[in-house]
Amino acid sequence: MNSAASESFDRQAVIDLEAIRDNIRQFLQVAEPARVMAVVKADGYGHGALPVARAALEAGASWLGVAHITEALALRAAGIEAPVLAWLHTPDSDFAAAITASIDIGISGWELEHVAAAAKEVQRPARVQLKIDTGLGRNGCPPDRWEELIGQASAFQEEGLLRVVGVFSHLAVADEPHRPETDEQIDRFREAVAVAEDAGMDLEVRHLANTPGTLSRPDAHFDMVRVGLGTYGLSPFENERPEDLKLRPAMTLRAKVANCKRVPEGQGVSYGLRYRTEGPSTLVLVPMGYGDGIPRNASGAQVAIGGKRYDVVGRVAMDQFVVDLRTAEAPDLVGEEVILFGAGEDVPGAADWAAASGTINYEIVTRISPRVPRVYLGQTPVDDGGAPAGSAE
Ligand SMILES: *Cc1c(COP(=O)(O)O)cnc(C)c1O
Repeated sequence: MNSAASESFDRQAVIDLEAIRDNIRQFLQVAEPARVMAVVKADGYGHGALPVARAALEAGASWLGVAHITEALALRAAGIEAPVLAWLHTPDSDFAAAITASIDIGISGWELEHVAAAAKEVQRPARVQLKIDTGLGRNGCPPDRWEELIGQASAFQEEGLLRVVGVFSHLAVADEPHRPETDEQIDRFREAVAVAEDAGMDLEVRHLANTPGTLSRPDAHFDMVRVGLGTYGLSPFENERPEDLKLRPAMTLRAKVANCKRVPEGQGVSYGLRYRTEGPSTLVLVPMGYGDGIPRNASGAQVAIGGKRYDVVGRVAMDQFVVDLRTAEAPDLVGEEVILFGAGEDVPGAADWAAASGTINYEIVTRISPRVPRVYLGQTPVDDGGAPAGSAE
């Protein structure tokens, strides 16, 4: 890793923005001619929404997607002018602020009247995108109420209170490409789009695919794909690694060894003493725990130290966990770099930590807490073809 500027650290999540750009370029190729929306909700899946959004736009993404209007407003406050869609609201969401900031508002049904009232208040038409529930059973308008929603939206549009600029939906099982439900969702989506267009709506975008849908279902691309996980270089498929998909994980989570000590056979480790050394051994202490977003039940995961993999043993505590080197002969490793996960064959991936703790790679990166400082590589794009892409700051 090109990180000369940041060798002094206790604990860090290093975010390689050039990896973000490469991943976006890869999705532009895969999705072409459809456009790419980079999904940067949840602080960019833990990577930092702002730097990720900027890098994604630099690489050719044309839209940004977030769940909450507050997340979209933060992008605008930082000067980002690209189209942004926010799709998850409550009656307390600030629709007026969204309209004023030219944020597209995703609508499942009940929001429509609130948005129309807010448009009246700020005297500006809202840009809305109507969401059909094609089968996920979460947000979105049920198919049997779609015509009614289209009718209501058309009426508000005629009043000049809003403009319907998009229709979208979300896939349920695209990470399991053999499942037939995706075909049904695509069919229902086509029908919903047709109903909107028959009602005279002039749509800028129709979009359905998330990362797995983008990679496995070209017939789900429509005008735009919404890429979250893939932006960060992670694989949505259980049996495919990022490199199989030409993706590069952007986050490397690392720390320095905080203690290193020789212990006898039978040494118990961490709360509950759930682990005991099988012989004389060396235990290494890593200064990260569930307070940093490391899953408490991740024993069984591995870390890399000096190019070798070692097991996490015993319970992960709030601030720290223990690695058993399984040898009494180790040198003193205090201050050495420990990589929890990152990119490439030599280090564990976020997916390995997910497997060890019974979750998915999405959660592993997203839950890394604000307690862990983020450091960015590649913040300025290379323009002379010769300089390293990695200088931080
Ligand atoms: C989170 C989200 C996405 C991104 O999904 P990935 O699988 O991470 O690509 C796309 N669309 C909607 C509606 C989402 O909530």
